[in-house]
Amino acid sequence: MVELEHRRDEPARLVAFCQQHPEAPVAEFDSLAFRPVKEAVKAALNEDQQGLCAYCERPLAPNAGQIDHIKPKGGPNARPDLCYDYRNYAHSCIDNATCGQKKKQGLLPIEPGLGCNAEWTLTSDSGEVVPLDGLTRQRSHAVRQTRDMLGLNTPALTRERKQWLDTTWQLLREAPEALPDFLAAAPFRYLLGTVV
Ligand SMILES: [Zn+2]
Repeated sequence: MVELEHRRDEPARLVAFCQQHPEAPVAEFDSLAFRPVKEAVKAALNEDQQGLCAYCERPLAPNAGQIDHIKPKGGPNARPDLCYDYRNYAHSCIDNATCGQKKKQGLLPIEPGLGCNAEWTLTSDSGEVVPLDGLTRQRSHAVRQTRDMLGLNTPALTRERKQWLDTTWQLLREAPEALPDFLAAAPFRYLLGTVV
């Protein structure tokens, strides 16, 4: 998961929208009027997330994907007060089996942000996301719940990630000096960073 640090200066279009519509209802988010704001927000998030989906870390173009509300805007855990809050946004890929579309209106135990990868790692044989050894039962549950709510171990995603993991191991053995540059540009770089 991307250790997402939202920019301090929110996109001007979002600031302007919130000033003009201080009481905007949640439904306005999917309106035609909000669409240009969404495009500006996606572009800004894409930069903040270094071109990766905030959840699965697959590459994501600025104009692709969707804005996901980290804390949901609907459902039993709804936070309508955060519907137009830039710090509650993540740029997510669109995939029925993973990420924002899989999570739907769920509330993630672990959210994309600093330290969000501290309690999980990848298995070397299969590249699956697993809780670290030694966690309390409660924290281990939080890790598994977050992983499964986002579909981070779906076969297609795991297969793709495993190839990058194998390259990481290979570099570590044969050319460790090349590893920092490789990891700086690789998809899945945050999860890969948990194994080296
Ligand atoms: Zn994704």
